[in-house]
Amino acid sequence: MEKIRLGISTCLLGEPVRYDGGHKLDRFLTETLGQYVEYVPVCPEVECGLPVPRESMHLEGDSEAPRLVTSRTKQDMTARMVEWAGERVIALEQEGLCGFIFKSNSPSSGMERVRVYNEKGLPVKSGVGIFARIFMEHFSLLPVEDEGRLHDPELRENFIERIFTLKRWRETLAHGRSRGNLVVFHTRHKLLILSHSPKHYQVMGKWVAQAKDVPLKEFYQNYQVLLTEALNLKATPKKNSNVLSHMMGYFKEQLSSDEKQELLEVIDHYRQEFIPLVVPITLIGHYVRKYDQPYLKEQVYLNPHPVELQLRNHV
Ligand code: SF4
Repeated sequence: MEKIRLGISTCLLGEPVRYDGGHKLDRFLTETLGQYVEYVPVCPEVECGLPVPRESMHLEGDSEAPRLVTSRTKQDMTARMVEWAGERVIALEQEGLCGFIFKSNSPSSGMERVRVYNEKGLPVKSGVGIFARIFMEHFSLLPVEDEGRLHDPELRENFIERIFTLKRWRETLAHGRSRGNLVVFHTRHKLLILSHSPKHYQVMGKWVAQAKDVPLKEFYQNYQVLLTEALNLKATPKKNSNVLSHMMGYFKEQLSSDEKQELLEVIDHYRQEFIPLVVPITLIGHYVRKYDQPYLKEQVYLNPHPVELQLRNHV
């Protein structure tokens, strides 16, 4: 499998680029996810010309438009960082990124809740790092996370699901834009979309049905926006249980009453969060294979990312 290209804050790879000459190696990112991902490292502070080691920095002023200032000598680095970041995001367009993993809490790289010091010198956790903000504005449809949030199993599963979906979307684009290709992509992703947003499932179904009346470019652009919006919404046990019950309906004729009862119990235990999602998914996957159900066996929902990552063992 061709690896997914992801941008990443350089220090998370173990490179000694931090202000104090240290790093923030994250072994899940390098060793586990790293088997499927090719990282494109970005260290805003070093790449904009600052040395290692260097004086530490923080954000000051208005949370919506803070300044990047060195902590001791109070040098304002904002203009330098903004100019560099504007050029860097344009260069990153060539990298084919499917997402970005930021270093949390950094005044340059943090994507949310970064400390901003007000005029009284008090920190408020309400800022976004200067580079992270420019990146997210420039690549508004790309999945982004920080390494701290990725310790949460639900956020981790959701982020990795989104980057794998974006990779499949890019592969579909590479096969050429046609209404037929988009319908195939949508059909395979229907239940995945339903698990995140029943509303988007409806809207996207209608949108795809109108395919022949919409110019192809607009059709693809709008579809990607809707897909991004849908997957940004969390797949909860309640929404997943609805999808699992929907899938069960495909086996009405084949399953015995005992088998139906067992599957209903497993889905209910998952909905009540007694067991992880992998349990009902495995049981349904077994019936899909056994009865060779043609629609379900094509559904990405059953297998949205490599099983070796064990993401559904923890949600
Ligand atoms: S947090 Fe960002 S700017 Fe700081 S060392 Fe890591 S990559 Fe560089």
